[in-house]
Amino acid sequence: MVNPMEKPLFELDKDEFKQEIVHHLRTTLGTSEKKASKQAWWMATCATINQMLFERLTSTQQTHLQKDTRAVHYFSAEFLMGRLTANNLHNLGLYKTCEEALKDLNLELADLCEQEPDMALGNGGLGRLAACFIDSLATLGYPALGYGLHYEHGLFRQEIRDGRQVERPDSWREYGNPWEICRPESVQEIPLYGYVETVFGEDCQVRKVWHPGRIIKGVPWDIPIVGFGAQTVNILRLWESRASNFFDWDVFNHGGYVDSQKEKAEAETISKVLYPNDETEAGKELRLVQQYFFCACSLKDIMRRYKRTHTDFKEFAAQIAVQLNDTHPTIAIPELMRELIDEEGLEWTEAWNICKQVFSYTNHTLLPEALETWPVYLFERVLPRHLEIIYEINAYFLKNEVDAKWPANNEIKRKLSIIDESNPRRVRMANLCVITSHKVNGVAEIHSKLVKEDLFPEFNQLWPDKFCNVTNGVTPRRWLLSCNQELADLFTETVGTEWPLNLDALRELAKYADDPVFQKKFMDIKLHNKEKLVKVIKAETGIDVSADAIFDIQIKRLHEYKRQQLNLLHILVLYRRLLLNPEYDIHPRVFIFGSKAAPGYRVAKDIIYAINKVGERINDDPRIKGKLKVVFMPNYRVSLAEKLIPAADVSEQISTAGYEASGTGNMKLAMNGAITIGTLDGANIEIAEEVGEDNCVIFGLTVEEVKELKARGYSPWDYYYANAEIKSALDWLDTDYFTPGRPGELQSIKKSLLDYGDTYLTLADFASYDEAHQRINSLYRDKARWAKMAIINAASVGKFNSDRSIQDYVRQIWHLDKCDIS
Ligand SMILES: *Cc1c(COP(=O)(O)O)cnc(C)c1O
Repeated sequence: MVNPMEKPLFELDKDEFKQEIVHHLRTTLGTSEKKASKQAWWMATCATINQMLFERLTSTQQTHLQKDTRAVHYFSAEFLMGRLTANNLHNLGLYKTCEEALKDLNLELADLCEQEPDMALGNGGLGRLAACFIDSLATLGYPALGYGLHYEHGLFRQEIRDGRQVERPDSWREYGNPWEICRPESVQEIPLYGYVETVFGEDCQVRKVWHPGRIIKGVPWDIPIVGFGAQTVNILRLWESRASNFFDWDVFNHGGYVDSQKEKAEAETISKVLYPNDETEAGKELRLVQQYFFCACSLKDIMRRYKRTHTDFKEFAAQIAVQLNDTHPTIAIPELMRELIDEEGLEWTEAWNICKQVFSYTNHTLLPEALETWPVYLFERVLPRHLEIIYEINAYFLKNEVDAKWPANNEIKRKLSIIDESNPRRVRMANLCVITSHKVNGVAEIHSKLVKEDLFPEFNQLWPDKFCNVTNGVTPRRWLLSCNQELADLFTETVGTEWPLNLDALRELAKYADDPVFQKKFMDIKLHNKEKLVKVIKAETGIDVSADAIFDIQIKRLHEYKRQQLNLLHILVLYRRLLLNPEYDIHPRVFIFGSKAAPGYRVAKDIIYAINKVGERINDDPRIKGKLKVVFMPNYRVSLAEKLIPAADVSEQISTAGYEASGTGNMKLAMNGAITIGTLDGANIEIAEEVGEDNCVIFGLTVEEVKELKARGYSPWDYYYANAEIKSALDWLDTDYFTPGRPGELQSIKKSLLDYGDTYLTLADFASYDEAHQRINSLYRDKARWAKMAIINAASVGKFNSDRSIQDYVRQIWHLDKCDIS
């Protein structure tokens, strides 16, 4: 690996860089220095960056081809990439050069970067994980491809109108995107619908022929993924759906112009929009078609590349690893079976053995509503041949594996079967994944344990070696070097240049945790980041906040298990204390939220509304003298996270224990010196281990205690009647105090916490959470103590570098070799 912070990768100096930008402005963008918009300047800058990037892209791809390397293929329905300009510049080691070149042109690089729309082709953690992983794969020099969907519209843009979330379409490539390259030479044709014919050959061999009802064209768009140091540039290949030429011309020629337009529109619908449900399964036909479309395109692409150097399939499993990011790409399993058997003529067992070696599966959730199942009737219509193959896999599995271990045990068969026999019958995608994959991993220690013990206990008995853990991580290039440059510079000054490649190097910082001079430097940077955020908050929401307050941040998708409602309830209680006792002594606090709710998730949207309405009342209340502020930042996304995280004092990670698989926001925030207030859930447990229990604030029920309480029978009413502050805060929501003239508008939150049973034990954890916040308050008042904690957090999160996650995948699952690029 080459560290671009140690020696320049390109000879280009700032004057040459400047010349190139101007050259592209004139020739590529067709404008001039006098007339150019910021958008044009940004595009010209990107075109310049691409010159260097494409050079490395070509050398990487040629080397991989020449050396015929084994590669991992990361299949994911989501890649939450965010912006790429600053990231690519840092990874190419060109950030400073570019910044200076633009300065000569009277332009600010940071300002031009704001021109780039986020590439928001994902919902949240799972999609962002995929983005961090392909960054790490390229950085570490592993041959890898990301495969996904080229959504025309990514996750909706969130506007807040009178406190409520309004969804607007996201058009990230409306005016073109400088990072994507169309590859018409690698177009694929994908069959759908139709029927299966059984053909008897002359040798009495049975052959299945799928006669599809439709053919869709898949057009690949490549996003180059530059590793840090730019030795390797891998590809993220995203598939766009189009009407196949064959179909629409046929209809067109028969006078069906309008019909041909309909066909075209239907075909384009497939990659039109990302489903906005996080942690819930939609069960819609279009979603299944999306999944099949990108998996089939990707497998054909893999097959085409494999066949350039091989004439049979003996080496296939040695060359190809496919990682399934959750169950969304599960359909790749029967599709590879179909390709190998129906198209390539392999025997069933031969094909099955290949599949078992090729696929591995990452589980991301234990939530039952998130486990994908598809009605059999839907499968029968959309993918009739795949249903047959699934039945065959199932029959083989139940007979040879289940019956062998548990003879004549129908109960276990019913449970492990890929088919759920209830009405209507459904295909369980997770079971298909576990049965096929050679490895199944959870995403944090506790989660992987629960996957084995609670989610798939029988599968674990059948194949104990199949299950493993790979704790998630995030790339320190984006989440520290690029988003918090001042802190990054301080770290480089203090421990040297190695840390972006080896985050454990930051351990050295712990030596300075008690040093008042270093503490001051560290906290001055935090303060400066907070001052920058104060301006963003003002511009986005009109709310005035002070950088001297504690910035307490909860940023993540809105979900009851993540418990934004717990945070809100605590805010209500604090507000009441301040009203009842104006002398109530707390350090000023700004509670900042950023969160999108799935458009059909009623309670989640009501929580957003409540946060905004409670915030309006609190922020305008002179009686509390600015001690409390509540800010809801609209349209939470990667680029906003990059502004919020460097300014955070407190990181809210307060899910009900057992429900957050890992979390990655928790890692980003700790890396930037925020103190975690969190439950013993997901990766919080491992973060607490790394930073030490003294340097984070843990509260609440443990996984075991949650199970016990649920088994005993949890009643939120007990807590409501026993705790006068909870009762008053919840009763407040029935009044029109926060929604003048419209009482009852916030009732649904109280209802969900009482009438509907408080599924996520909000009230049970309240007292402990409140006590934890009091600890935060006193810790913050001890300036030296707080600075020390913040420094130790940043110094101790080396484990949560996604490079480490990738090394774990390589060692346990993929068995890849690094490839030097000549
Ligand atoms: C990191 C990240 C997430 C995941 O956050 P969690 O707190 O782990 O749920 C979601 N959205 C965006 C934009 C992110 O950057």
